[in-house]
Amino acid sequence: MDKILLQFYGWLILTFLSCFFLIPNLFYHTSNTINYLLIKTLITINNKKPTTVEIYQHKGNLIIMMDDGWQSQYVVGYQYMRKKGLRGSIAVITNYINQPNYLTLGNLLQLYHDDWDILNHTHNHTNLAKYDYDKQKKDIEKAYHWLNKRGINNGNILIFPHGQYNNQTINIMDKLNIISGRGITDGFNDKYIDDFYQIRIKNVLSNTKPEAVFTWIEQTIAENLTLILLFHKLEKITDHTLMQYDIQNFQKIIDYIAEQKQNLNIITFSDWIYINKYLNY
Ligand SMILES: [Zn+2]
Repeated sequence: MDKILLQFYGWLILTFLSCFFLIPNLFYHTSNTINYLLIKTLITINNKKPTTVEIYQHKGNLIIMMDDGWQSQYVVGYQYMRKKGLRGSIAVITNYINQPNYLTLGNLLQLYHDDWDILNHTHNHTNLAKYDYDKQKKDIEKAYHWLNKRGINNGNILIFPHGQYNNQTINIMDKLNIISGRGITDGFNDKYIDDFYQIRIKNVLSNTKPEAVFTWIEQTIAENLTLILLFHKLEKITDHTLMQYDIQNFQKIIDYIAEQKQNLNIITFSDWIYINKYLNY
């Protein structure tokens, strides 16, 4: 009996010691100056090589997002942003992968390898608010497993199709351990958030001039905010959906962002959510 008890205490002490030494390393966190934070994040969460994300307290956050996983987001978006050393976040509809005009699985793996976010935008782009609990759960879960199976682990963040969700969606997300949902409400975000569902974006539509985007970025820098820029298709404008964005204008915006690199924390959506969620700002 004593021996068992001794083993138990030994195990308890070992557990305590390993927690004490390991956890600070998992979320390594130093401040070199008051305004500077270096955060080594997400070793366990991302299940791949640790990513170092630099967040300066006095700089606004900029997140470049693209919804629906269109092919042009890789061919135009990724290729151009890579040249400028910028990362983005793409919300994918998993059932559309490898379909004409959409990203291929090869594209996804390349993006993920280069530390882009690949986020869950459901399996079929279902308008969740119009579906019952089971149908919603199925569409969210299917995409979640689809991504996980292929080694992509940003799937625990949901981008609501059509920006729509309801209370049942939130219950499902809790159940599946999905930690945040983003819609399409217009606006800027504070630097840090504590509500992981009330997230605002600035939609870059066909008729949005690059100069308008520049002023959003200036405001983000001046007021130390978080700006999420949202793009859809990056191609010639041929229809009235407003979802197409002219390639040259896109490149102008990316050039501007690259020039402003020193004044911004340019991060992905999951970087921002994880920093908020796990580092308790
Ligand atoms: Zn969508």
